[in-house]
Amino acid sequence: MRSRGKLYVVGIGPGDVELLTLKAKRALEESEFVLGHKTYVERIRHIVKGKIIESKMGEEVERVKKAVQLAKSHIVSLVSGGDPSIYGMASLVAEYVYSTRADVDFEVIPGVTALCSASPLLGCAVSGDHAVVSLSDLLTPWETVEKRLRKALEGDFVVVIYNPSSRRRVDKLVRAMGIVLEVRGNVPIGVVKNATREKESVFVTTPKDIIEDPSKIDMHTILFISNSETMIVNGKMITPRGYSRKYRW
Ligand code: SAH
Repeated sequence: MRSRGKLYVVGIGPGDVELLTLKAKRALEESEFVLGHKTYVERIRHIVKGKIIESKMGEEVERVKKAVQLAKSHIVSLVSGGDPSIYGMASLVAEYVYSTRADVDFEVIPGVTALCSASPLLGCAVSGDHAVVSLSDLLTPWETVEKRLRKALEGDFVVVIYNPSSRRRVDKLVRAMGIVLEVRGNVPIGVVKNATREKESVFVTTPKDIIEDPSKIDMHTILFISNSETMIVNGKMITPRGYSRKYRW
């Protein structure tokens, strides 16, 4: 027999509620239970009609178990900041549901990830091939993080850095910037803090500057490391896609 509940894993975007998709809004409106981290739930509270169950960072596994349990007989949304597939809740739900063979129907509703909201605030930091690396060593060993960062830089991708720092990990940010200096040199790095949220800030810096003062970068920040084609034009960071090689303006 098919369960009548449903579990939505809802991407709620980077901050601005207008960046919620229509589908995400509808799922939140129709859910009987909405589970999520306190700061994410805060942004969509006005949309929710059902019961809100807040939890803290580090309680992700418990949150997923609870959501799956409830979704056996209710419509449930589990919220994830940005997009659920990018360092979000989607993989944890999939792993848990498939490995426990839980009888639950789940659907991931994509959201606007930090990269997509932040790149245009700098100008157009990402336009074609890019690589995304998280500096968090909470779930990935640091040696793996360093190796992936180095390979991405060597590949001349624009390298987008999620989770660049936290109070506990400032030393890791400094080491990562050392690798950028070694592989790419003192190239421009686009910085966006709190994209589309209160206290949004956007600036361009360099790995040397970050090593000198890493406090400029916190956990609400995303970084864009230039590739060999990235230019600063009128203070804006632009990575051309190649049209100007092919056409005259
Ligand atoms: N699933 C999220 C990412 C979660 S990991 C997404 O798709 O965006 C958390 C990291 O994402 C933060 O440390 C930061 O690097 C980045 N981030 C998320 N929202 C952001 C925002 N509004 N502005 C800048 N960076 C953001």
